Amino acid sequence: MKVLLVDDSKVMRQIQRRSLTTIGFSDIAEAGDGIEALQQMNGQPKPDIVILDWNMPRLDGLGTLRKIRETDTKTVVVMCTTESEKVRVIEAVKAGVNNYIVKPFTPTVLQDKLAETLQRVGLAMPVPQTV
Ligand SMILES: [Mg+2]
Repeated sequence: MKVLLVDDSKVMRQIQRRSLTTIGFSDIAEAGDGIEALQQMNGQPKPDIVILDWNMPRLDGLGTLRKIRETDTKTVVVMCTTESEKVRVIEAVKAGVNNYIVKPFTPTVLQDKLAETLQRVGLAMPVPQTV
């Protein structure tokens, strides 16, 4: 299962990548803003899950989500918000987001959130590799 991490903060992407690796994801791509994310959505293989930051330059998370949903209702999109952006989540829901997660979050919270989201669309979580 391929995950696309979209965040303008490289540090945030590194943290999220580490969390995803911990919980069993191994195919992880990154994008620094919405424009890059949309380019990556056309790549092969196409991401199954997009973890999308809200505030980004050029094209923000909501704009990116709307653009994705013009042609693709299937890819799971989870929006990352800050506490103060939570009130705007309704806009993202209307635009077709699958779920949202409030930053900062621990690997366990991310795991729970992704498991809940994937279950809703009938997909299974990866099984973490035991070291
Ligand atoms: Mg940001």
